[in-house]
Amino acid sequence: MYPTIKIIVKGGVVCDVDNLPDGFQYEVIDHDVQESKCDCCKDSQDYETHYWNENICEIEEDYIMPDEYGCVCYRCFEDLKQQGKITFK
Ligand SMILES: [Zn+2]
Repeated sequence: MYPTIKIIVKGGVVCDVDNLPDGFQYEVIDHDVQESKCDCCKDSQDYETHYWNENICEIEEDYIMPDEYGCVCYRCFEDLKQQGKITFK
């Protein structure tokens, strides 16, 4: 039996690491932490154009985005527009 390394995670944060052998480090690669700005595909890059929901950015926009999205990238914005989910004022 090999020892089991236990990494205890709560709410995306590592609380405790058990049985980590001496001389070893651990690295957590949590894709949730590296979250993209886009609430829709979660796959957008920072440099891409994003559209914000005015509910959260408090800047008046000329469109209304569904409440479930705080920010979407231009691709998702186009998708949502195609689906008729973006309303223009
Ligand atoms: Zn997107």
